[in-house]
Amino acid sequence: MKAFKIESKGNVAFGSVEYETPKSDEIVVAVKVLGLCGSDLKTYHGDNPMVQYPIVPGHEIACEIVEIGSDVPSSLSLGDSGTIIPYTTCGTCPACRAKRYNTCSSNKTLGVARHGAARSFLTLNHKDFIACKGMDYTDIALIEPLSVGIHAANRAGEVNGKKVLLYGFGIVGVGIMLELKRKGAQVIVADISDSKLQLAIELGADIALDSRDPLFEETLVKFTNNQGFDVVIDAVGAGSIVTSALEKTAVAGTIVFVGYHFDTIPFNSKPIVSKELSVFGSRNALLADFMGAIDMLQKNPQLKDVLASKRFPFEEISEAFVYWDQNRGSVMKILIDLQEEDRGYE
Ligand SMILES: [Zn+2]
Ligand SMILES: [Zn+2]
Repeated sequence: MKAFKIESKGNVAFGSVEYETPKSDEIVVAVKVLGLCGSDLKTYHGDNPMVQYPIVPGHEIACEIVEIGSDVPSSLSLGDSGTIIPYTTCGTCPACRAKRYNTCSSNKTLGVARHGAARSFLTLNHKDFIACKGMDYTDIALIEPLSVGIHAANRAGEVNGKKVLLYGFGIVGVGIMLELKRKGAQVIVADISDSKLQLAIELGADIALDSRDPLFEETLVKFTNNQGFDVVIDAVGAGSIVTSALEKTAVAGTIVFVGYHFDTIPFNSKPIVSKELSVFGSRNALLADFMGAIDMLQKNPQLKDVLASKRFPFEEISEAFVYWDQNRGSVMKILIDLQEEDRGYE
């Protein structure tokens, strides 16, 4: 079947991958809408150390079941729409034993460590399918990136009444903020894109500010009565934010890093000790976070209109990467539509 491959840094081509007949506990899904992830863009630029080329990218999936193995539970039927948990779990590593499956030591994310969903059909274990009855494919394709945000918000623990500073308002940031607001937090969003800051206000941020604004620091001090933030979340992944987060977190506060970078930066660990900070990482998402994202999309039907920045037909997926590069400030999510004619067997 037709598949889109990133062959090497900056080199893409349509090729073919084999259609896998499902084993007894497997299903085949037809991919309907695919969201492009920042990690796919990194792969395209040769900046994703997890990837071995050539790779079929894509792990934000809206799909329909088109084939069912003989031992799959009868709760799943042909024609069911849903999304896919793109991660794998070994069940035996320390993370899995602690039920923190999202950070399994041998996780192989679709489109990163194994061929992803930029193709017509995907064969997988039925347990990786999450049925999304009554949701449209656009909403379904937004579940995974929002679930990553929900997971990061959950890492901050109880936030009701707390003051949170969130760096970065991409789609993960949107998931973080909506989850924090749902739980009763007061949130300042910092970003450098005007359109993203405006969206943050529309979606309920208490304050949204350009971190380069001369009034930025003063606003933070006023907002917290100079006490610092109970929680600071980095959804950007920049060295400068590490130092800012350590400075701006209140005593006994919490920092969550969901963005990351590859630079080595010097930092002073004193604030971690003297303020007894809790510093957490956040990776991927758990099933409960996926369910939270489904709920978030159902309660915020306007989300898909503001998050789906641009759509491309599957044939033009390579143009989608170019477009994203040229419009980094304004793109929230690029979606790829796969049509019936893409689905021919070979
Ligand atoms: Zn992703
Ligand atoms: Zn594991």
